Amino acid sequence: MSGTSPFSSWITNDPEIVRLLDDELNRQRTTLQLIASENFTSPAVLAASGSVLTNKYSEGYPGRRYYGGNQIIDEVEDLARNRLKELFGAEHANVQPHSGANANVAAYQALLEPGDTILAMRLDQGGHLTHGSPASITSKIWNFVSYGLTPASSDPELPGEIVDLNQVLDLAKQHRPKLIVAGATAYTRTIDAKDYRAIADQVGALLMFDAAHPAGLIAGGAHPSPVGVADVVTFTTHKTLRGPRGGAILCREDLAKAIDGAIFPGLQGGPLEHAIAAKAVAFKEALDPRFSAYAHQVVANANALAQALEAEGFRLVSGGTDNHIVLLDLRTFDEELTGKEAQEVLDHAGITVNRNTVPDDPRSPFVTSGLRVGTAAETTAGMGPEQMAEIARLMGRTLRSRHDDAAIRTIREEVAVLCGTFDPYPSLSN
Ligand SMILES: *Cc1c(COP(=O)(O)O)cnc(C)c1O
Repeated sequence: MSGTSPFSSWITNDPEIVRLLDDELNRQRTTLQLIASENFTSPAVLAASGSVLTNKYSEGYPGRRYYGGNQIIDEVEDLARNRLKELFGAEHANVQPHSGANANVAAYQALLEPGDTILAMRLDQGGHLTHGSPASITSKIWNFVSYGLTPASSDPELPGEIVDLNQVLDLAKQHRPKLIVAGATAYTRTIDAKDYRAIADQVGALLMFDAAHPAGLIAGGAHPSPVGVADVVTFTTHKTLRGPRGGAILCREDLAKAIDGAIFPGLQGGPLEHAIAAKAVAFKEALDPRFSAYAHQVVANANALAQALEAEGFRLVSGGTDNHIVLLDLRTFDEELTGKEAQEVLDHAGITVNRNTVPDDPRSPFVTSGLRVGTAAETTAGMGPEQMAEIARLMGRTLRSRHDDAAIRTIREEVAVLCGTFDPYPSLSN
């Protein structure tokens, strides 16, 4: 079997890992990838990630390295930084964060002293762990105050469950945070940095925009840009931006020194230059006009998926979507069905999603009453609104027949047929 693997010509001494890589490629090809934070990178990004740049130590920044031999590495990192600045029209870029979480911690470290107050979004209403979870180191260093969403509403003209900007303003006046954080990990509506800027200016706070999820939509012009509005913009490169796993930070020139120092030596050691080369490849892809078409298609697909899921009987949190995410409340579909059980049975049917709390969820974060689904990955694979409608029907059928193993097996086969028409990696024969 490893004789026909696309990996075996590179990995000649480790059949166990070759088999696992084959299995994972096969899983990604034959099941639906609907995790909202995932995507399929291009073969070019994969190749750069797997390059000899992994061998090089390059602590420091281009032109200011601690070790010798970094002339070419400097060119790689400069290319990545310059492309990223061009992509977002930013004054300064740092491409070294190993992850979005590291980008956030470094931004806090650059802007704040320990004990300073940060106003960020509640975790159980869509915020991220690094926005002050008790389990995150961020909450041990800084003092977090949290804002949330408006109450649910059944009026389609005035959807509830959107960021409560009045509450953000009230809390900002009351707690005088040094930093306000905009951005979320499970939120389906546009977050406009300008709304937050107005509030931050009223209380003299700095503004950070965590664009981990919408970075690719912003790059493609399908979501308003926070660059030039927020003081600092952090993001991941592997979600809608479709690059390698990693993070990045954008800021104004006057904050560049503090941001760079907070990443290295503040938080990290040697940068992952193979990942930085892969980021450069992804940024070039995102500069291509075809990426803008992709970003808009991602949003159109999320809309199609949301409407079809609503027709299946699921309630849409915040009444719909403006981005790549759809958040489902399962209780209208089936009061007994938890997010945990739904995720498991969908997995058996080859439909990969994650359970998620819904606002004011009575169930624990481990069980939940909701699901989060996203369209970034399958849009990359070429799917459109018709396939989104088909996916919604398959999800409804799976969850209705969750106690019928034969029915789940049949759906699993239908999923494989659908995925076969939209192979994310036609160039990786196997
Ligand atoms: C995904 C995400 C992050 C963290 O990214 P990692 O690369 O997983 O560390 C940070 N903030 C938000 C809002 C996210 O959604």
